[in-house]
Amino acid sequence: MRTRRLIALLILFFALSSHVSHGRSSIVEIGLLSKTKSKTIIITPLSGAYSLKYKDSVVYMLSNQDLLHVSVKNGELELKTLNGLLGHFPSIHLVPQGREGSFKLKPVIPYGHTRAYDDALSISVLEDRLKVVSEVNIDKYVAGVVKSEVGTNEGIELYKVQAIICRTYALSNFRKHEDEDFQLCDKVHCQVYYGRCDQADPLTGLSYIASGEILKAAILTTGLVLIDTTLELITASFHSNCGGQTVNSEDVWMLPKMYLKSIVDPYCVERRNARWKREIASDKWLGYFKKVYGYPIEDAGSRERALNFTQTSRAPYFQNNEQIMLKDVRTDWRLKSAFFSTSVEGSTVLIQGRGYGHGVGLCQEGSMEMAERGKSYKDILNFYYTNVALIDIASLRFLLK
Ligand SMILES: [Zn+2]
Ligand SMILES: [Zn+2]
Repeated sequence: MRTRRLIALLILFFALSSHVSHGRSSIVEIGLLSKTKSKTIIITPLSGAYSLKYKDSVVYMLSNQDLLHVSVKNGELELKTLNGLLGHFPSIHLVPQGREGSFKLKPVIPYGHTRAYDDALSISVLEDRLKVVSEVNIDKYVAGVVKSEVGTNEGIELYKVQAIICRTYALSNFRKHEDEDFQLCDKVHCQVYYGRCDQADPLTGLSYIASGEILKAAILTTGLVLIDTTLELITASFHSNCGGQTVNSEDVWMLPKMYLKSIVDPYCVERRNARWKREIASDKWLGYFKKVYGYPIEDAGSRERALNFTQTSRAPYFQNNEQIMLKDVRTDWRLKSAFFSTSVEGSTVLIQGRGYGHGVGLCQEGSMEMAERGKSYKDILNFYYTNVALIDIASLRFLLK
């Protein structure tokens, strides 16, 4: 079993290192606009000039004073620049002339947000639409994801935590889009990637000081991923706030993971999403349990218990009734968490809840608090994930010997 997982990790390692040549770092291929039937886009270099290649020949040099207009015409790419029509090609590859480069991409048909991306880009035709794949250094990709995930108000240790989680997730899902010839998409399905971790917004010019810190965190943790005791990359789940106690993975997803165990978290209880309230009419609340679960609301004792339910520590079931899972009650009523107690006020049930999200794995607000109190990224990851190890994916080279 161990050997098989090690082999799986090694395959992954070689998949990554096959992109490494002449000191170039690992590249990931991210499918952009993958759910959009994109027909026309405009590309403008931001920094550095780009060679526009078809197969191995350079067909044009795109400077940052120029732009590239790409559209689908009769099953081929029609390319135009400020100098006019460039021609028709089945596919093209945009490669930075220097070691690094970045560009803006504006979806025109259908219209979409202009975003900036790093490194190279390949464009081809898929049926009647554009297939656009960003070929980006993995640390730059990680920084872009972390920025859209946690924003720009945190410190570097928190960014390192999120960078490792993002990298672990990316590598364990490396084959998700294998049949489409890229590794990950830019949507929630994989991880939301809004492009490069910009120092400045490409449209407004507003600068983000933290962007530099996010990129630094990604580079300082380069190659680091989380594995469990069987050498498997972990499912690094996280949520906004656990309300003071995280949840066993099996209580939410029926899937026990030895590193996703419930722990008491003292760090998040004073943070923004620690507490919530909701009021629901008593008859609606009782009617729900009757209708969905056949709960005996005619019985005074049962009714009383359904109206006054207390959870001092996390419970998987409502009133110890194994048919009524709190995670389902949470989904049905769109509650912020399944960690709640109820009481009656007149004809209303007052629901007082703790935390926000599914509660499995790392608690983001708790992590922020830990980082603010001077804990390191290793302390934070080891606190929320039980019995995990951080390894450098490059160290697998030694495991092979
Ligand atoms: Zn995806
Ligand atoms: Zn927490």
